[in-house]
Amino acid sequence: MMGDIAVVVGAASGIGAAVCHRLRTDTNARVVGMDHQWRSTGESSCHIELRVDVTDEASVERGFDEAMLDGGILRSMVCTAGIQRREATENLSLERWREMLAVHLDGTFLAARAAKRRMKDGGSMVFFSSVAEFHGWPERTPYAVAKAGVSAMARSLAVEWAGDGIRVNAVAPGYVDTPLVAAARERGELAVDPVTLHALGRLADADEIAGPVLFLLGEDSSFITGETLMVDGGYRIFRGK
Ligand code: NAD
Repeated sequence: MMGDIAVVVGAASGIGAAVCHRLRTDTNARVVGMDHQWRSTGESSCHIELRVDVTDEASVERGFDEAMLDGGILRSMVCTAGIQRREATENLSLERWREMLAVHLDGTFLAARAAKRRMKDGGSMVFFSSVAEFHGWPERTPYAVAKAGVSAMARSLAVEWAGDGIRVNAVAPGYVDTPLVAAARERGELAVDPVTLHALGRLADADEIAGPVLFLLGEDSSFITGETLMVDGGYRIFRGK
């Protein structure tokens, strides 16, 4: 059984919003979404929206405190907060390097630690890596490094917290049709059409990532921990036809 509180960090857009939507429709969990920027004016995918900057320790702790205010048991935490930018490494400032690592590495660490402190009865966490951790990705070095770190974090925490009944996994998507990719396209940062990079010949819809996340949160994956699950439309295996 999935627990009664599920926290999704990075919930205002793309994959995070899709995960909230699926949690809301497919489970009984109270879905608490956290993001530093809420844009939507329409119906939310979550039950509760909290403004949280995942790079800010106090903000994350406050957010998780607030998530627990109405009682219930925290059993699920998904961290999808992310940014992406293309920049030649020789011109990359230390500030921009640190910003990328802060959102993905500090952010995942702070969210995972906050969740662990409040998961009193076991649970499941899902972090977000990317196919970028498995190949050389020019001009996105800090992103690729951060994503490799996120997977390493999932493996370490999976072992460290296994005795507490907490499973920790990561998902590594291929290209997903979200505002993150749309923004990169608009900035002219996609050197090749990403459609051509996937064996399935298309980008994923965010809901196609949300499904595997729900699998990793639920009982059907009860013997899976420390795994990075590729959800990439055959990106990693594809060498052209
Ligand atoms: P998105 O831009 O649609 O959503 C990311 C969300 O993270 C946004 O709502 C944003 O406001 C939030 N966020 C960013 N910085 C934050 C901060 N400091 N504090 C709190 N929230 C913050 O992106 P997406 O495509 O849904 O990506 C979700 C995750 O999946 C990211 O980690 C991304 O790196 C990863 N990913 C995406 C793709 C893709 O093709 N879209 C591929 C592989 C991996």
